[in-house]
Formats: sequence, C-alpha cells, structure tokens
Amino acid sequence: SDVINLIAAGEVIDSFAAVVRELVENSLDAGATRIVISLYPNLWRVQVADNGTGMSSPDLQLCAKAHTTSKIRSTEDLRKITTLGFRGEALHSLAQVADLEIASRWASDPDAPGWQVVYNRQGEPDKIETIAIAPGTIVTVANLFGSLPVRRQGLPPLAQQLKAVQGLIQQIALCNPSITWQVRQDEKPWFNISSGKSAQQILPQILKPIKIGDLHSLNLEVEAPRNSKSQIELVLGLPDRCHRRKPDWVKVAVNGRMVRSPELEQTILSAFSRTLPRDRFPVCFAHLTVCPSQIDWNRHPAKAEIYLHSMEFWQERVVGAIERAMQLSSA
Ligand code: ADP
Ligand code: MG
Repeated sequence: SDVINLIAAGEVIDSFAAVVRELVENSLDAGATRIVISLYPNLWRVQVADNGTGMSSPDLQLCAKAHTTSKIRSTEDLRKITTLGFRGEALHSLAQVADLEIASRWASDPDAPGWQVVYNRQGEPDKIETIAIAPGTIVTVANLFGSLPVRRQGLPPLAQQLKAVQGLIQQIALCNPSITWQVRQDEKPWFNISSGKSAQQILPQILKPIKIGDLHSLNLEVEAPRNSKSQIELVLGLPDRCHRRKPDWVKVAVNGRMVRSPELEQTILSAFSRTLPRDRFPVCFAHLTVCPSQIDWNRHPAKAEIYLHSMEFWQERVVGAIERAMQLSSA
C-alpha cells in the first residue's frame, strides 16, 4: 500500500539501546505510567513491562507481523504523527533478530484474561496460552542477534552498551516526567527514576550533583508560524549556582522525543556564552512542543535527527526564552 511505500526507512534494531527504545516507546504510546526494564546482558535478553492499555488477544496475535501498527491508518495520518511509533516494524524486526515473547492483558475489558504469545521469526504466533498478569504488557526479547554472530561481534563493549541504555532511558524520562522508571540488571536494581511534575524534577535525578533549587524552569506559549499553538519548556542551570560541569549539557527535545539538533544546540550555547564567564557551562534542557506538521521525522530512521520547518523562528524564540529566564533568575 501507499503507507508502506511512504515509510521508506526501516526501524533499525542494531543494539541493546535500540531494543529498549522501541519497547519503551511502545509502552509510552500505550499510555503507561510505570515502566520496568530488566536487562540480562549475558543472556542477550531484555524485558520491558508496563501498565499501559495492553492488547486484546487478536491484536496480540497480529502485532509482530510485518507492517502492523494500530497507530496509523492512512497517508494523511502520516502527516500528523503524535505517537512515537508509527511504522509498525519494531516488533516484526525484533521477531526476526531475537526470540520474541509478549504477555499482555487488555485493560479496557475487565473480563479479558492475560495472554502470552511466543512468536516465530516471521512474527506469527507459535504458541498461545493464558497467563495471570495485571493489565498491561510484558515484552521479552531474548537471544538477541543469536543468529547474527557478526552483528554481535560488531557491537561495542558491554559497559559502553549499558551506558548507552542508561543515557537513553534518562533522556526519555526527561521528556516524559510523569513516568516512574525501574531499571534492573540481572534481577538486581540498577537505577530508578521517580515521576515528577516537570523535567525540572527529573533533571536532578540524572545530573546527580545538581539540586532542584539550582535549576530554573520556564514555560512559554508561542504563536508559531501558521497560527499553530506551540510551547517551549526550558529548564536551565545557571552557572553561578550549578556545579561546574564539562561543556556542555545541552539537550533539545521536540514533541516528547530527545533529538539531535546541532542548530538549536549551538543557538543555546551561544545565547549563554554572551553572558557567561568562559569557564562556566550551562545545563539546559529545551523542550519544544510544536504542531506535528512542522516536523519531518524521516530525516533519520531512528528519528533522532529531525528537520524543523522555520528553524530560524525557533532559534529566535529559544534565545528569547533563555534571556528571559536569565533575567528572572537575577531579579
Ligand atoms: P508501531 O509502534 O510503529 O505501531 P510496533 O511494531 O512497535 O509498531 O508495535 C506494533 C503494535 O503493537 C503497536 O501499534 C501497538 O498496537 C502494539 N503494541 C506494541 N507494544 C505495545 C505495548 N507495550 N502496549 C500495548 N500495545 C502495544
Ligand atoms: Mg513501536
């Protein structure tokens, strides 16, 4: 179909972090408020459990087939994507490169039992049975890249991969402050992130020496091009208060997703550098909420890099917001 053709870039499962990202994004799309991630690195195993909507039994049986998504039904939908996933390829790709098993219980039907499905390499159900679980979904990916020894050998050392997983979860947590995270490694607690009202409450949990009081936050309503309501959330640590850090902890997110935006990152750094001593570095998290039609996510298959229409407009607004926050904090 057209949708399939439009979706040029395939989801790429190329690391532990990619697995975690795809599963966690599905949990977020399912409205979860609590996500438990368990890693078993030596078994090449990852499990993500959530308290989201769960799936009905028919959906559960279909979800790992090629191009199966419940999130997009037409080419028109593609222009106004609000969910994190939309290609319907992650679970299918996972079934191809690992042993995939999903247990799910549909929250909307109180009488629905939980089901557990084991999928084959084509993403079709191999084994289906009922299971006693709370509403939500538990996805288990095991023996990752078991049939692709070259892929396994090409991966960075384990410590580096785990660091990438931790960084990824922290970034996602920052963009989704109302979620409670529990991350485990080999059945032992690794780290937790408590939910909060805003990114300001998450940031100190991630950048440990920094305290909430060291940070300022600002929310701006912005009248964006074509009258679309937009928002800039800014959390920043001003260098006279925050601890010295290496340059530079500056992150940009757009519509709930951390992105690489060299243009905006540079804009933020230079906005600070005009007023700061040279040996002080800002901590800054800028989260833009813009109309989905302003974004082209397809610039990169992992959706980490995006193209924003009217980039100069956003650069100006971000600089304005930073200047405003600096004034407020010195007042
Ligand atoms: P996409 O996220 O692009 O739709 P995926 O392959 O990641 O594609 O998931 C396929 C479908 O499986 C989703 O559209 C959703 O309906 C369902 N699904 C996957 N994970 C979950 C989950 N944790 N909770 C509820 N539904 C899920
Ligand atoms: Mg998905």
